[in-house]
Amino acid sequence: MKKIIQYIIFFIIATLFLTSCSATSHGFDKSFYRFGTVVNLRFYDKDGSAAADRLLQDLELLWDATAPESELSKWNADHTSPLSEKTLHLIQQSIEISQITNGAFDMTLLPISRLWGFQEGVHAVPKNETVESVLEKCGYEKLSIKEGSIIAPEEVLLDLGAVAKGYAADLIADELKKDGCKACVISLGGNIRTVGRKPDGSKWSIAIRDPKDTASYVGTLHFYGERSIVTSGSYQQFFEDNGRKYCHIIDPKTGFPVLSELSSVTVICSDGLKADAYSTALFVMGRDKAIDFYKNTSDFEMILVYEDGSVEISEGIASEFQLNDSYDTLTLSTIERGNP
Ligand code: AMP
Ligand code: MG
Repeated sequence: MKKIIQYIIFFIIATLFLTSCSATSHGFDKSFYRFGTVVNLRFYDKDGSAAADRLLQDLELLWDATAPESELSKWNADHTSPLSEKTLHLIQQSIEISQITNGAFDMTLLPISRLWGFQEGVHAVPKNETVESVLEKCGYEKLSIKEGSIIAPEEVLLDLGAVAKGYAADLIADELKKDGCKACVISLGGNIRTVGRKPDGSKWSIAIRDPKDTASYVGTLHFYGERSIVTSGSYQQFFEDNGRKYCHIIDPKTGFPVLSELSSVTVICSDGLKADAYSTALFVMGRDKAIDFYKNTSDFEMILVYEDGSVEISEGIASEFQLNDSYDTLTLSTIERGNP
């Protein structure tokens, strides 16, 4: 029942998420529910939805940490079950991103997520001592890869929820292109991926959701070409207790949900896996560290949306981003990469 309600809500929101420049450039849409979210596909030439859905079902069977029969859950249960090449790639990349983000990204927080009730959807605020003792069992540094196997102490459990959708969007894009698709948009919840070029030659228009009113948007990106645009934010999943908001993104240093001046972080990158991992990591880092990371990393652009309604965009997308002018409360400024 919960899934059905989520489906209906996400469907309404997600259809508002993809915008098209004109009726003539409008393709045809397909939607289904996978990976705990609504998948929206818009095709401009060939309908590749059957192939995309088949692939998504296969990927769900690999990475859904809440499904006992998934490859990841089986590995979490015994630490010896075999892992596919795709899963090993995802874990290897995740370890590297944990290292470069100084641990802001950490795929070993499943026991902490469970403690806060984010996996089962039954939320509770745990005692500080409980968080501390569970956190001791987490940490990406406890993982290593040896001859194609993941080595970790038995209490270490993996959750690929912060990267799986981004990587899935990359794999679907590759599959559709192989299948002859020339132009489409893939949307897996907050993960968007454009493929090819629209037949009418117009730019892609991707709206960035307003965290305060998810039926609206703070601005739109207009661009040509293939990109991943991934958003992480406290508005996507949270619960409230005693007037405080607790979101699903965990600070690996404290084991507590991130409490931030940021409402959302959107990362724009050619690689969906990276875009997904970075958006989660930057949300954990908060503004200043996110900007330092941007200045020292050349392969992405970003949009930071704050609780107070201000929006900061990185210089590489400044000419492509248009603030929603139906708001008069939003303010916009640009972050320069400069010379690190
Ligand atoms: P995303 O929506 O991509 O930002 O990913 C959030 C999901 O990743 C959560 O629902 C958790 O399953 C997991 N997660 C939470 N905190 C972290 C973190 N600091 N690093 C990596 N994964 C996390
Ligand atoms: Mg992510």
